[in-house]
Amino acid sequence: MAAKASKPAGPPNGYASNGHVPTGHAFVVQKHAAGHLHYDFSLEMGGVLKSWEVAQGPSVDPAVKRLAVEVEDHPLSYGRFEGIIGKGQYCGGLVMIWDRGTWHAVGDAQKHFKAGRLKFRLNGNKMKGQWVLLRMKPRPKERHTCWLLIKDKDTEAAPGDPNRLLKQDRSVMTGREMDAIAAAVKTSSPPHSQKRGPQGSPRYKRI
Ligand code: MN
Repeated sequence: MAAKASKPAGPPNGYASNGHVPTGHAFVVQKHAAGHLHYDFSLEMGGVLKSWEVAQGPSVDPAVKRLAVEVEDHPLSYGRFEGIIGKGQYCGGLVMIWDRGTWHAVGDAQKHFKAGRLKFRLNGNKMKGQWVLLRMKPRPKERHTCWLLIKDKDTEAAPGDPNRLLKQDRSVMTGREMDAIAAAVKTSSPPHSQKRGPQGSPRYKRI
């Protein structure tokens, strides 16, 4: 598709003047220790979080393609959770808000998502610049839809240093590492005063 003349994309960092992330363009990456460690990469689209499970985390080396398995949509509220989802619950385990910010599609997001080639810019604390998600051809009997998350070549790329971002291993919301998140939940949840949600709902430690 021929590129149209680019138009201004709002404030330079994508944030509103009051510092709040505007609705409609949030992205969040949650580091999730649930059985196996992975990163949940989510883009706000159409009122939900479109989510991909990236086992190896995002790479800033444009030569490295990270497998991103499409998972079910999450409600927007999930993108604000950091803490523990109770054992035995769906996706139980520790969750850290590893990165967040705003995203903007290059072109028509819905159209390119459907076509399996979504190009976008990120303004996060860690993930920045232009990225692309490419949908892979499904293999016979494959249960999940697989994509590749790839860094585009720009000034935010780091050729030869694929795991650069992963070394920044603290929550962008609370500055905590995984151990501290786990410890905080344990010490602040006396069993008799614990307010539980409806049966079967995840037990989160709200920040
Ligand atoms: Mn997950």
